[in-house]
Amino acid sequence: MSLEFVLATHNAKKVREFQRIVGERMPGVAVHPYDGPQPVEDGLTFAENALIKARAAAGHTGRVALADDSGICVDVLNGMPGIFSARWAGLSAGDEANFRLLLAQVSDIRRPRRGAEFRCAIALVVPESLLPGGHEFVAEGRWRGGLAYEPRGSHGFGYDPIFEPEGLEITSAELTPAEKDAQSHRSRAFTELLPELERVAARLG
Ligand code: IMP
Repeated sequence: MSLEFVLATHNAKKVREFQRIVGERMPGVAVHPYDGPQPVEDGLTFAENALIKARAAAGHTGRVALADDSGICVDVLNGMPGIFSARWAGLSAGDEANFRLLLAQVSDIRRPRRGAEFRCAIALVVPESLLPGGHEFVAEGRWRGGLAYEPRGSHGFGYDPIFEPEGLEITSAELTPAEKDAQSHRSRAFTELLPELERVAARLG
């Protein structure tokens, strides 16, 4: 497949994970990180925020753009932190402050009521300058599991040290990158996106 796109995310670890997934599933496709103006992410869902980011990148660069919006949704918190995952402990909070706050909030909740899932939406936007009328598509992926009692593991990023994928007794930060890619919410969303990307590549010739 011959296609080039810009990837609109400011999280360097997410970019690396994405590049790994694309490299594995779409060899030869070029992914350029987008470093232009960042729009305000004021959507109410992962899909809306992913679309806001992809539209901004496609509009600014005139290229096909992909953007990922993702987070962790905890059952007992009615799906929060959700779209607030990146700033759960405050606007300038880092990964560790975010997951420590989340662990504290559910400290009195025992299994099996610690269910949670990662969710990811990937938006694809083809600008009108490349296809008459332009084109938009959003793919979504979920990864079910539960919250650990203590952080463990050093791979991945974000909430990985406290997320135990369903059926495993280790956290997603204890999985190798390849093991995580084989089951993650991001790779599931990408699996749904792939046929659409192939159709877009064919239309763009
Ligand atoms: P975004 O970059 O605005 O989409 O925010 C994503 C938030 O969800 C950040 O806090 C990430 O740490 C978290 N997150 C998303 N995907 C993952 C993942 O695969 N592992 C761990 N945390 C994730």
